Amino acid sequence: MAETLTGVSAPLLAHLARRIRAAGPISVAAYMDEALFHPRWGYYATRDPLGAGGDFITAPEVSQMFGELIGLWCAELWRRLGAPGRVTLVELGPGRGTLMRDALRAARLVPGFNDALELHLVERSPVLRAMQADTLAGFAPRWHDDLATVPAGPMLLVANEFLDALPIRQFVRAADCWRERMVALDGDALAFALDPDPATESSLPDAAPGAIRETSHAARAIARAIGARLARDGGAALIIDYGYGPGGLGETLQAVRRHARHDVLDAPGSADLTAHVDFAAIAEAAGSAGARVAGPMPQGAFLRALGIEARAARLLAIASPDQAALIRSACRRLIDPAGMGLLFKVMALAHPAAPALAGFDGEAA
Ligand code: SAH
Repeated sequence: MAETLTGVSAPLLAHLARRIRAAGPISVAAYMDEALFHPRWGYYATRDPLGAGGDFITAPEVSQMFGELIGLWCAELWRRLGAPGRVTLVELGPGRGTLMRDALRAARLVPGFNDALELHLVERSPVLRAMQADTLAGFAPRWHDDLATVPAGPMLLVANEFLDALPIRQFVRAADCWRERMVALDGDALAFALDPDPATESSLPDAAPGAIRETSHAARAIARAIGARLARDGGAALIIDYGYGPGGLGETLQAVRRHARHDVLDAPGSADLTAHVDFAAIAEAAGSAGARVAGPMPQGAFLRALGIEARAARLLAIASPDQAALIRSACRRLIDPAGMGLLFKVMALAHPAAPALAGFDGEAA
């Protein structure tokens, strides 16, 4: 395994060092983008990171129930929208395609939905695109580099653990002003360094010296684009991720490899890099583009409201004792506060006149 790590990290490190020597330190966002998506040595360009044998595991990989409930959420909303003859179903960052496969299997319960949908996948990783092509072959998906090329029309969109992979910038409150944290060189190694110039970013709050604030231009831009589309063409989006609420300060950037924390600057391209999602910024961006915003609410409460326990009970009724233990532990992991139930949050964006959104307080039908 060490061989493969050197395989991507050494050339990527040399490339980053050349870039920094030529043009100066780069932002944390530029570093994340290179480390995750460099076309030859980037983390996502070179591997399938998911699952027990990979670096991290996501809710749809924990249990089929996750995708099934989301599929029913989409199909049910489509029915409440008046069952339009054509609907654009979009997933941002579909990973192995597991969530969508489970979603579309469950959505067959709502007659007509699977015939009306046109499936569009926004995915930058060629490795994962190939896996999605296998998993979702029956649904004739089309792939996009970003939302801009997805055709107009009523849209249902799902994004699970997508926004956390988007690049963030980091700002550190110095004695008299905010300064941006940059990735520089210390000899031949990468090292953090503060930009000597004060930050010009306008969204930075008042805070005590030492405070850290993260912002994601990319996440705000995609939230704005989703909000504008929903306001124009109708539909709704479900965004699920780990994140924080208004006024969030503190560092959340992390690197994960083989299910363990890893140094962010060590062996670039060999570990996943993510940051918690600023849900207040997402709500603000989508809301100012004209969308209605519901949530964020804890994933555990959302999945309970959608009936995960009843779904588990139905699966348990036909399970072997071994399968039953797995179903019970997966269900707990998805909804328990100590598992993914509280840290992960669900936010819905919708056309202002869209019908009630199942699972959301005060919205549920
Ligand atoms: N949603 C999946 C995978 C999460 S991992 C799951 O829940 O299992 C993040 C996914 O987003 C991967 O498929 C990754 O390749 C994709 N991704 C990350 N940043 C992206 C970007 N800027 N554009 C398109 N896809 C991106």
